[in-house]
Amino acid sequence: MRENIRSKHRLAIDDWLLRNGHPRYRCGQILHWLYSRRVTDWEAMGNVPKALRQALSEEFEICLPELVRQQEAGDSTRKYLWRLKDGAFIESVLIPANPAQAGVASDRKTLCVSTQVGCAYGCVFCASGLDGWKRNLAPDEIVGQVLAAETQAREETSGGDGAASRSEIERKGGERQVDNLVFMGMGEPLANYDNLLKALSILNADWGVGIGARRITISTSGLVPQIRQLAEEPAQYRLAISLHGPTDEVRRQVMPVSKRHPLAELMEACEYFSQKRGKVITLEYILIEGVNDAVSLADSLSKLAHQLRAKVNLIPYNMVDGLKWRRPSVEQQEQFFRALCDRGVRVTLRRVKGHDIDAACGQLRLKAERRKASETAV
Ligand code: SAH
Ligand code: SF4
Repeated sequence: MRENIRSKHRLAIDDWLLRNGHPRYRCGQILHWLYSRRVTDWEAMGNVPKALRQALSEEFEICLPELVRQQEAGDSTRKYLWRLKDGAFIESVLIPANPAQAGVASDRKTLCVSTQVGCAYGCVFCASGLDGWKRNLAPDEIVGQVLAAETQAREETSGGDGAASRSEIERKGGERQVDNLVFMGMGEPLANYDNLLKALSILNADWGVGIGARRITISTSGLVPQIRQLAEEPAQYRLAISLHGPTDEVRRQVMPVSKRHPLAELMEACEYFSQKRGKVITLEYILIEGVNDAVSLADSLSKLAHQLRAKVNLIPYNMVDGLKWRRPSVEQQEQFFRALCDRGVRVTLRRVKGHDIDAACGQLRLKAERRKASETAV
């Protein structure tokens, strides 16, 4: 299969042009078509000579993820199901202004992005890992979710005429539909490290999508070596840890990865990251009834949060079809939240509506995969 051009960094495109005898300034033109105009057809690149368009099309793909389905919740959270070139399904979720989302400021439009098809880490509460891991996403499939979601959202806000509205928006100075990214969709981002970092360099670049590194949060279930590696990267990406339990005993019940990387090791890596980067880490804590919602756990959780000077983001569990786990009552959630507040922890509790689709990433895709499997079986 041909590589997709949106997997390539500017320098690599530059290099390709040079090797194939084309002038350097063509690179800027091509990037404009790819990231400002977001075309999906080589023929649309009006100021690029036909011979070059032809040569590019022989070497590279230019497609974006294709929208298969969209779901909307009451608070206008939108969940997109995309089909990739090989027929695999992935999801992204567009979350409007929402103060409790990953502790992100309230006027931001946040896109939750996937990094793998399925997940190998098998956390027992999560839909993404239910059918195992299929493959890593290529950089263009990560970048493509942002571009395709923005195009989709623009078409909706402008009443349908995507191309016309895009040029209109460009004239007005380019209103962003996505200005904050969280890598909390399907998959374990740090298990697809190289493709993730390549995608991030394109998402972050002025010549690319132009989203600041401080507005990009990577969430991990706790891959210790890669957390240390990320601490060495020059760009200032933010880090969120899926903690979900303040002791090894609780974590081991729900997250197999905690057997390979126990809490003490994870905490050391987090301390290293926050010292090295001078950045506040977010501890994600899904509240699951009877597993990790006992107020008695607030002590150990607050100790960890203080040790790291971290924020805690409490997320009431989203029920997954076929799984036994439940979200605690609102009273129980509030009690747990207050227990952390009382211990001086910086904590948010997600109270938004729309949990019928929000954050239970992997569910829409799982249904689509299973439907596809049963169709082929007939
Ligand atoms: N693999 C990475 C990133 C993707 S999961 C990680 O685990 O951090 C993103 C977040 O969604 C994680 O905190 C994960 O634990 C959480 N999550 C998974 N299933 C969920 C569910 N059913 N309800 C609420 N949060 C869920
Ligand atoms: Fe994978 Fe994250 Fe889901 Fe765990 S919570 S199975 S690491 S996607």
